[in-house]
Amino acid sequence: MKTIGLLGGMSWESSMTYYRVINEQINLKLGGQNSAKLIMISLNFAEIEELQHSNKWKEATDILIQACRSLQSGGADFIVICTNTMHKLLPQIEKEINLEFLHIAKATADEISAQNIKKVGLLGTKFTMNEDFYKQILIDEGIEVVVPSTKDMQTIHNIIYKELCLGKIKTSSKKIYLNIVNRMGSIDGVILGCTEIGMLVKQSDLSIKVFDTTLIHAKKSAQYALLA
Ligand code: GLU
Repeated sequence: MKTIGLLGGMSWESSMTYYRVINEQINLKLGGQNSAKLIMISLNFAEIEELQHSNKWKEATDILIQACRSLQSGGADFIVICTNTMHKLLPQIEKEINLEFLHIAKATADEISAQNIKKVGLLGTKFTMNEDFYKQILIDEGIEVVVPSTKDMQTIHNIIYKELCLGKIKTSSKKIYLNIVNRMGSIDGVILGCTEIGMLVKQSDLSIKVFDTTLIHAKKSAQYALLA
């Protein structure tokens, strides 16, 4: 079994889900007392969030590169960055770190394609919904991506940082998210493109297909750890 390097803490609320799901998946496959071999670095999200919102992406990149070096020297065989947003920095990180990264958007695009779904809505931080670093990977796989209106994007973004990353799960916010999905028109599925959204919105809340990036990424990590 390969040793997984988890780069977490962004936020720790969703890193807990990664830790649980990866271990469950390994145990499901191997049974008995089997569990995942993994190393986790959990960053202080206050520092990261501050750099994101003051547009200091270079400083944030340096912190993530340092964390990846620690994962590598600690024995990680590959790295899983436990956030959609920070995949924005992956092109710079990959230049410095000679290890494989399991890309969250690629894993999600593969899952969407496997289910033969062609048009999806994307929920996430403003960075993820607005910029190309994430959407382009889906588009390159032939998936049409719909994003909410500017006003709805701001609402989604605020709920992520002011509630979900702090572990606050509110029924009122869930309704807001579901209304936004309904306003996105004719989509066949919706990507929960922020690793905390799955705490709020579930498949049972919607009739269209829900792609929870945390679950997809965590399952893919466990599968990859068991590949020969
Ligand atoms: N975990 C979130 C994501 O998947 C947002 C937190 C962050 O900015 O990293 O995008």
